[in-house]
Amino acid sequence: MKSRLIALFALALSLALPAESAKRPNILFIFSDDHAPHAIGAYNGWLKSVNPTPEIDKLAKDGMTFEKSFCSNSICGPSRAVIMSGKHSHKNGFMNNGNSFDWNQQIFPKLLQKVGYQTAIYGKSHLKGKPQGFGDWAVLPGQGLYYNPDMIFADGKRRIDGHCTDVVTDLAVDWLKNKRKSGQPFMMMVQHKAPHRNWMPATRHLTLYHDIKIPEPATLFDRWEDNAPPARHQELEIDRHMDINYDLFVDLTPDFNQPASQKRQDRSAWRNLKRMTKEQLDAWYAAYKPKDAAFHKAKLKGKDLVRWKFQRYAKNYLRCVKGVDESVGRLRATLTELGLDDNTVVIYSSDQGFYIGDHGWYDKRWMYEESLLMPFVASWPGVTKPGSRNQHLIQNLDYAETFLEIAGAKIPGDMQGLSLVPLLKGENPDWRKAIYYHYYEYPSVHMVPRHYGIRTSRYKLMHFYQFGNEWELYDLKKDPDELTNLYGQTKHAKLTKRLKKQLTALQKRYGDDSDISEKPESWQKQVRPGE
Ligand code: CA
Repeated sequence: MKSRLIALFALALSLALPAESAKRPNILFIFSDDHAPHAIGAYNGWLKSVNPTPEIDKLAKDGMTFEKSFCSNSICGPSRAVIMSGKHSHKNGFMNNGNSFDWNQQIFPKLLQKVGYQTAIYGKSHLKGKPQGFGDWAVLPGQGLYYNPDMIFADGKRRIDGHCTDVVTDLAVDWLKNKRKSGQPFMMMVQHKAPHRNWMPATRHLTLYHDIKIPEPATLFDRWEDNAPPARHQELEIDRHMDINYDLFVDLTPDFNQPASQKRQDRSAWRNLKRMTKEQLDAWYAAYKPKDAAFHKAKLKGKDLVRWKFQRYAKNYLRCVKGVDESVGRLRATLTELGLDDNTVVIYSSDQGFYIGDHGWYDKRWMYEESLLMPFVASWPGVTKPGSRNQHLIQNLDYAETFLEIAGAKIPGDMQGLSLVPLLKGENPDWRKAIYYHYYEYPSVHMVPRHYGIRTSRYKLMHFYQFGNEWELYDLKKDPDELTNLYGQTKHAKLTKRLKKQLTALQKRYGDDSDISEKPESWQKQVRPGE
């Protein structure tokens, strides 16, 4: 009888006290730049055999992988602005990389602070100006550099020696171990520069993959024959636009004598080399010089040259990915070491997808699948089903709302996305049937014209309105590589009409009042600024 009473008393006590699992969860948001889902093992893309991401794959095994995760504007700064604000580009005001972000606006970190979260951000902000809404922060100026980068702290700018991915991870680990207040939930954003152009790996990764052949994408030699004209008049081809010196480092030295014809190139690789220590430079040359010599000897031309450029590009890109993957491992190990792993939601994402030779390209911007997709892998111990995969249409527009709901904060009515919490719980709620996309940066680097569009679970309709008046329609089920443009075919007229109606409804719903008037002058009249 006495032991029964004690048991009842213990039960009553356990019900009265908040259980450990009822504590508000911490949020660790690990975010990289230009990491395409098909360069993550868990996404089963054509690069899977290289297996560049064992740590992200472990996160996927512990949590949920979103297979239909998309950005709303495929470029660095704007994607981050959408995440901060929970609003489309036309509403948060950061429509292209030339804009400045208004930090005074409503953003989710400020709302988390109001409900008692400590917040921190380290790495690439790309939103210009001093971050608001963060108790501690250190950000890269603009794009930042890979080697020995400068970082801006609240009290000023200073150089930190090391590879950028490690420098940013070190800052985050230091905050978790030494600056975080225990007993108060946190939200930390760890935002890597890698694997952004110019793809410069850490010295320990310089010879990774050097003895293997990276598989080529099926569309490496795509000639965009069935696309509307914009796809044939861009400037992001491995063949014609990827620079052998600046992008692929052939013969690049700190005192590189740049030919006048290449002044338009992104010269950040050269700037990085100029900052390297002797030890870093020695490692760099030991890795690349023998390969440069072999390249010169081979005198490659045509498709063979494209293939060589692809191999060097893809290897460097994947080496940068490897550094990010190691960062994911280190950050998760730190959570475990500190006993925080059971109550921390860990998310891995990147600001958009990327072309890794797909369609013969590098870079992003287009609404085609490779750059529209974003990785989104989330582990919420006790909530997400281990190894689960989700097919709902999600966007970066949804992250702010998700973080707020995880923290138990109110989601403001003017945010435009949907909290992913029901999906993370494995529920099947009434959900959006289509996503909206709008890209604005034109004329600009890579010359991808402005376009907007709609993607449903099966179809995609895109409109290029400042480069003639061009439409594209794809059936992603039958044509996942988007090689057959169905727009204008009589048998698809009904489908086109329905999608156009849905697209207009989305523009109305999201209040997209940006200038989308058609400017049907020919593409030849379009020039870059300053030319
Ligand atoms: Ca990016």
